[in-house]
Amino acid sequence: MRSGIGWDSHRLEAGRPLILGGVRIEHPDGLGLAGHSDADVLTHAVIDALLGAAGLDDIGTHFPDTDERWRGADSIALLQASAALVRGAGLELVNIDATVLIELPKLGARKHEMRDRIAAACGIAHTQVNIKATTGEGMGFVGRGEGIAALAVAMLSGA
Ligand code: MG
Repeated sequence: MRSGIGWDSHRLEAGRPLILGGVRIEHPDGLGLAGHSDADVLTHAVIDALLGAAGLDDIGTHFPDTDERWRGADSIALLQASAALVRGAGLELVNIDATVLIELPKLGARKHEMRDRIAAACGIAHTQVNIKATTGEGMGFVGRGEGIAALAVAMLSGA
């Protein structure tokens, strides 16, 4: 068994879509995440957890933000590619657990859609993915609503 951890954060800005776990969310102030790709902070953390567990470096190595190919990239497609790299290394995904640190909005039932999208991208069952959310209780960049962060762990088996 091999475990990996992933962490990411992105700034909230006007004029950007808010996409978390491949799901479009409406922010109460109309804000979205800034970044080179679609800035899907949750999916980025999951990608780094998978790559980390497989010993395959990190998201920035495989999909550099200096590369025009990844401008506006759909992070779910990057996750799909990352899961293929993991399988190519002879490893199978056991489970993914992630936490989104977000002040607003409440993710509620949308978390189930995120689980579905992440599981589908990885070629695993909904039950192998768990998504949680917590606020910053008004503290720090999350609590002030300046950005959103996510952390994830992944477990792999084989090799
Ligand atoms: Mg990122």
